[in-house]
Amino acid sequence: MEALSMDTPEVIIIGAGPAGALSARLLARAGVRVLLTDRGAFPRPKLCGGCLTQSGIDLLASHGLSETTSITNAPMIDRLVLHSGAQRLSLTVPPYRVIDRARFDQDLVDSAMRAGARFAPETQTRVLPDHAVELQQRCGARKNLTPAVIIVADGIKGTSLRDIECFAWLTRPGAHIGFGAIASVLPSICEQDSISMHHFHSGYAGIAPLGDGRAIIAAAADPAWIKQQHDAKPLDALLRALSIDIHSDTVLRVNPGAPGLTRQRAVIETRGRIFLIGDATGYVEPFTGEGMTWALADADMIRDHTLAALSGAYRQGQWTTQHRRLNRRRKLLCRSTARVLRVPHLTRAVVSAGSRSKVFSGGLACAVGALQRQNLPRVRTA
Ligand SMILES: Cc1cc2nc3c(=O)[nH]c(=O)nc-3n(C[C@H](O)[C@H](O)[C@H](O)COP(=O)(O)OP(=O)(O)OC[C@H]3O[C@@H](n4cnc5c(N)ncnc54)[C@H](O)[C@@H]3O)c2cc1C
Repeated sequence: MEALSMDTPEVIIIGAGPAGALSARLLARAGVRVLLTDRGAFPRPKLCGGCLTQSGIDLLASHGLSETTSITNAPMIDRLVLHSGAQRLSLTVPPYRVIDRARFDQDLVDSAMRAGARFAPETQTRVLPDHAVELQQRCGARKNLTPAVIIVADGIKGTSLRDIECFAWLTRPGAHIGFGAIASVLPSICEQDSISMHHFHSGYAGIAPLGDGRAIIAAAADPAWIKQQHDAKPLDALLRALSIDIHSDTVLRVNPGAPGLTRQRAVIETRGRIFLIGDATGYVEPFTGEGMTWALADADMIRDHTLAALSGAYRQGQWTTQHRRLNRRRKLLCRSTARVLRVPHLTRAVVSAGSRSKVFSGGLACAVGALQRQNLPRVRTA
């Protein structure tokens, strides 16, 4: 309960993923009394492919986080190998760092605490209909607080807004379900210096080496196909369907799944008091390595709006306008990629054309680069 014993904070941030932890750091550095909460016990596992773009790394560096060990120790990989049936296409793409999310998120929380933010892990947090915030700790302690601003960064599986109707999710019917794991060995079909994407008619899996022998597996599949697998675990069934030889003994940890990946919210702020950031605003599969970068970019942008709200200078709708403008192109690109991935013969045709034509594969590599950069706001120095 120690973190909850502080005077009512000016800002409560719900969710200590990249969006919440970085905004806690930036606001604490600006002199704001911040309480960051998460329902998980940190470091906690997080379903993610772990591929962080250079834009995300630059953004962190601009806020004094260039020496984050989970990044500097992570392998840098610029080869993406696409597998579709027997076809294989190798592309050179702008490099990703393959990070361990449990460590990365812990590093960001530590950096927020160093800047002066308080952190309450294992604290289920809920915004009540009167916009007070209820904090329920695993040990049983409970407290209600009324901060000036609430930042909701609780991701696509977040539960903090379930009592407030205007923030209801709009989930795309038939949206893929996400799941994944950390394995102690890289499957033999994958290589240490590449990220591989494997595709079949009802889903796909990305596998990335963590550099210490372990591998991250992140996957998405059609919910109807998952249902047909009856009792089989979705990850086992998917790896079998993709002919990926991971023995269940080598799976170190199965990361909790994520339902209905493609989803959005019609409203992402209210009355200059509640702001939504990161995945809590919506998510479009596929996970082409930009989700964390966008969560970090939202944290960067919400700082000024929060400071304006605290000083009474915020005008309702400014965050929504900025967020929607920056997201339009990114969502279009992600939706287009998702459409290709959902049509097996189209994916096979793309992989086959790329393996035969250097010009075509060069175009694909540029498209991956564009997905990585997508209209990111200008990186500024703190
Ligand atoms: C299968 C898959 C693969 C992906 N691969 C990649 C990739 O390779 N690269 C990439 O950049 N992105 C990837 N992403 C996307 C990326 O994981 C997200 O975009 C990113 O984690 C969003 O960060 P966030 O801070 O908004 O939310 P999150 O990281 O989801 O953090 C939300 C936090 O809120 C907490 N929380 C939820 N509810 C409550 C509550 N009521 N009270 C308190 N705490 C709460 C959760 O415990 C969690 O810690 C992938 C996503 C999926 C599903």
